[in-house]
Amino acid sequence: MIEIDIRFAEKVAVACNILALGGHNDLTLGHLSARKPGDNYIYMKPSGMGLDEVTAPDVILLDPDGVQLFGNGKRHQEYPIHTEILKMYPQFNCVIHSHPFYSIIIGAGKEPLRPINHDGVLFVDLPVFNETGALIKTPEQGLEVASCLRGQKAMLMTNHGIVAAGSSIEEATLIALFLEKASRMQVMASLMGEYTWSSPDEVQIKKEQCYSPALMQSFWDYLERRVKRGASTL
Ligand SMILES: [Zn+2]
Repeated sequence: MIEIDIRFAEKVAVACNILALGGHNDLTLGHLSARKPGDNYIYMKPSGMGLDEVTAPDVILLDPDGVQLFGNGKRHQEYPIHTEILKMYPQFNCVIHSHPFYSIIIGAGKEPLRPINHDGVLFVDLPVFNETGALIKTPEQGLEVASCLRGQKAMLMTNHGIVAAGSSIEEATLIALFLEKASRMQVMASLMGEYTWSSPDEVQIKKEQCYSPALMQSFWDYLERRVKRGASTL
């Protein structure tokens, strides 16, 4: 009998709640999946509820092909995004797909995402999936999405949304937040007409200065405290 690790499910739920506060909520759409390092089972947000509503008992369990093994909730239609990325990249243990407002605007534009603020340094040469703006519902489509990611931790999906991935729930969640924040920054900056961004040298320096493992952990800890206090914004 398969048992859910409720503490891991709790972390999945907290990540969903953080994503909701960070601009990733889109009604009941958007999802996060995660596996424990060295494990094959995939913990996933169920369909039919907003990212802000998810609690640990809601989390469902899938096998590596997406067959549901546990949980009362239903699987999201776009589960192949998760199963195919997790199969292709053993270095990733968490995948997020969502429809964040500003990132979709950037994905629909001609200008690539620029490193305007700190967050933007993580998304230079961001892959863009533009095979289709429709839902990814088959393993074949999921494979196309996974291939387009090229092992990077984030990707825009034109006229659809984004993918974020990481070695942990914490990392993927923060990457998704940073991507939407960098996109919002650029959308607002474009209202000025011309704007500047960091040079390649500065990008390298800022990646190390601003996103060390210790800082990433402190960002996550802060966000976890914030959602647990019932914050309504980040
Ligand atoms: Zn979608």
